[in-house]
Amino acid sequence: MKKQLQVMKFGGTSVGDPSCISRAAKIIVDAARDYRCVAVVSAMSGVTNRLIEAANHARTGNGAEATAILEALRKQHETALVSLIPHEKDREGIRRKLEEVLAEGRRLCEGTALLRELTPRTLDAVSSLGERLSAPLVAAAVKETGAQSEAIEATELIVTDAFHGGAEPQMQLTRKKSQARLRPLLEKGIVPVATGFIGATVEGQLTTLGRGGSDFSATILGAALDADEVIIWTDVDGVLTADPRLVPEARTIPEISYREAAELAYFGAKVLHPKTLNPVVQAAIPVWIRNSFAPERPGTKITPEGRSIGGGVKALTAIRDVTLISVGGPGIVGLPDVVGRTFSTTAELRANVLLISQSSSQNDICFIVASADAQRTVEALRKEFAQDLAHQDVEHITVDPNIAIVAVVGENMRGIPGIAGKTFSALGRDGVNLIAIAQGSSESNISFVIEEKVVKTALRTAHREFGLNAAS
Ligand code: ADP
Ligand code: ASP
Ligand code: MG
Repeated sequence: MKKQLQVMKFGGTSVGDPSCISRAAKIIVDAARDYRCVAVVSAMSGVTNRLIEAANHARTGNGAEATAILEALRKQHETALVSLIPHEKDREGIRRKLEEVLAEGRRLCEGTALLRELTPRTLDAVSSLGERLSAPLVAAAVKETGAQSEAIEATELIVTDAFHGGAEPQMQLTRKKSQARLRPLLEKGIVPVATGFIGATVEGQLTTLGRGGSDFSATILGAALDADEVIIWTDVDGVLTADPRLVPEARTIPEISYREAAELAYFGAKVLHPKTLNPVVQAAIPVWIRNSFAPERPGTKITPEGRSIGGGVKALTAIRDVTLISVGGPGIVGLPDVVGRTFSTTAELRANVLLISQSSSQNDICFIVASADAQRTVEALRKEFAQDLAHQDVEHITVDPNIAIVAVVGENMRGIPGIAGKTFSALGRDGVNLIAIAQGSSESNISFVIEEKVVKTALRTAHREFGLNAAS
C-alpha cells in the first residue's frame, strides 16, 4: 500500500537557530519512516523583518545600511550551516546556494537605492530571500539526520496572480506544477523541503502570499498533492483558547472546526494565517497545529466538524492594528448608494474590511480595516465623496486608529441565548466600553470594538466569564 502523504510546515521560531533546525529535521526524518513527507519552511525567525528593513533603507537611498543587514544575515546563515553540517566538503554546495541568494539580495537593494523606489514587486523579491536561505539549510540538516532531501523554491510549485504582497494561488495550475515537480521525488523517497511564503505568476515573476503566509503555502501544497494531512509545527501547543501572550491562563483546544479556526485566524490569532484553511476545505484534509519544541504533545486537530464542547464558546481573539473609519453625517440619510460607493472603493483597493456596522438611522457607516490599509482607504473615500463633502451631504470621513476588535468564537454558540448578554455585562462590570458590535447570522462569532488599551482586560474578563480557563 502506498504510504500516506504528510505536508509539514515549520514556522520561523521552529527553524530559528541551529538547534531548532536540528529538532525540525528530526521530526521530519521520524515522520519520513512512516509517511511520504513534504516539508515547507519559513525564514529563520526575524529574518523577513530584517529583509524588509533592508529594502526600506535602500528605498531611502541608504544602500550601506541595507548591505550591512544582508551581511549580518549572511553571517547568521553561515554560522547555522557550520553548526549543522560537520564536514566542510558537505557545506560547499549549500554555501554556494546561500551566496547566490544573498548576491541577488544585494543587487536588488543596490537597484532600489539607485532609483530610490521600492516597487511591490521588488519588495516581494527581497522579502522572499529568508525562505530561500532557510530551505537549503533545513534540507541539508534532514540529509545529515538520515533521510534523502532536496530544497525546492516554491516559485516552481505555486502559481499565483500578480497581486504582490498578498497573492492568491491559482489552484489548477498549482496542482499541475507541484505534482509534476514533487511526485517523482516522493516516489524515490526524497523529502522535498519547499520555501514557504512565496509563489510565482504564470510568467514566472516571484510573488509572496502575505506576512505569515507559510501556513497558507502548506495547505496550498497539501491540497495540490491530495495530502492525507497537513501539520503546522509552531512554538505553542496548538490553537489556544486565547493568545497566550495576552491571557496566560489560555488552554490548548484539542479539536476545532475549520470554520472556528478560520474565524480566529481572520480576527488576529497569529497562530494561523487567515487564508490557511481555504485550500483544504473542499477535500476535507485535516490540519494539525503542533509544538515543534514539544513534539510528544498531541496539538490541535482542525477538522470539518470540530468537536463540540459544553458552553458553546470555544475561543477568543483580538485584532489590534486596525482602524475604524466612519463615513457619515445626517445628510447621508437621503443619499442613495453611500454604502455601495463606500465598499466599491474598499474593494477596488483590495482593503480587507474586517467589520461593518451601520446604525438604523443611517447617519453613519463605520467599518474597520487593517491600519496598514487605512490611509489609502481614507484618501480614496475622500476622492470618491469629494462632491458630496463639498455639498456637505457627507459631513465627515473620520478615522480612529486606537481601537481593537475582540471576537468570541464558537460554532455551538448558535442557538444558545444569552452569550452576547453575558459577554457584555461582564465587560460592563469590568469597565470596558463598547464602541461597536457585530454578530453575523452564522452566530459563530460575536465581535465587538473597544479601545485598544483595554484589550487585555476585555480578553481576560471574557475568558473567565466563559469558563475557558478550565476548558480542556
Ligand atoms: P510561526 O513562526 O510558527 O508561524 P507565529 O508566531 O506566526 O508562529 O504564530 C504562533 C504564535 O501565535 C504563538 O506563539 C502565539 O503567541 C500566537 N497566538 C495568538 N493567538 C493564538 C491562539 N489562539 N492560539 C495559539 N497561539 C496564538
Ligand atoms: N517569513 C514570512 C513572514 O515572516 C512568512 C512566514 O513566516 O510565514 O511573514
Ligand atoms: Mg506564522
